[in-house]
Amino acid sequence: MRCKFCESEAYIRLHYPKMLLCREHFIEYFERKVKRTIERYKLLKPDEKILIVISGGKDSAVTAYVLKKLGYNIECLHINLGIGKYSEESEAYAKRQCELIGAKLHIVRVRELLGAGIGELKTRRPTCSYCGITKRYIFNKFAYENGFDAIATGHNLDDEVSFIFSNIMHWNTDYLGKQGPLLPGEGKFVKKVKPLYELTEREVVYYALAVGLEYIVHECPHARGATTIEYKEILNAMEEKKPGTKINFIKGFLRKKHLFERELKEAPLGECKVCGMPAQGEKCSFCRVWGLEEAVGLKIK
Ligand SMILES: [Zn+2]
Ligand SMILES: [Zn+2]
Repeated sequence: MRCKFCESEAYIRLHYPKMLLCREHFIEYFERKVKRTIERYKLLKPDEKILIVISGGKDSAVTAYVLKKLGYNIECLHINLGIGKYSEESEAYAKRQCELIGAKLHIVRVRELLGAGIGELKTRRPTCSYCGITKRYIFNKFAYENGFDAIATGHNLDDEVSFIFSNIMHWNTDYLGKQGPLLPGEGKFVKKVKPLYELTEREVVYYALAVGLEYIVHECPHARGATTIEYKEILNAMEEKKPGTKINFIKGFLRKKHLFERELKEAPLGECKVCGMPAQGEKCSFCRVWGLEEAVGLKIK
């Protein structure tokens, strides 16, 4: 089985568009697609300083690798969640990935910053819920305090399609108006972009392997991703029968997104009295769950 463009042996069979590609031509295809995504959705400008939150997994590592290769000014941040062996392993992968990429890596450790790891806090909120609040707060504030213009995350096509699909299945449409490859910055919220928006999970795995990026495959021990995985399986089965289902679903969604935007009726944000970051009530949700009376500083010394 030969590559569509040269005599080399095929490395991957793409389903949509249908073609066989060798390793070199697949790498080229993947990077061109990221570049086109950035251009199509106007995600980044060439001179912007970009922060990539490196988890130790494949998606964020591939995002950093490609953006660096495309010539962007990137630095990476790893948030060590303080979840025993899982977090130690994740940090080790993040370090190795950044060495390979040749990117500067900053590390914030939740235990050092807040006195406890994720999973040890006494709160009524589910673990994944306050973990999400914690991560989003830290990477946004880190980016804001250190002058980054954008935060790039590793969400791929499968993540986006399954998220939107499951929200529609439950008619949980409140957040859909805010979904998309670009979330513009506003006030103390730094712009967020998703350069892998049009690439499938399978393509991301093959790319990581092709360029020699190693990554953690274990799920977080607190993960309750079971339903997401089920939705991904259903969507993969549909994609198998009708190639292009996922990308067409997401493109259709972007065309109809305005229908959901009307549903957003949020109270205007004030400032957290503890940390000064945007907040819905007196305190932001981060300072509330962690019971903070003093702001945490994330400025690079
Ligand atoms: Zn080839
Ligand atoms: Zn706060």
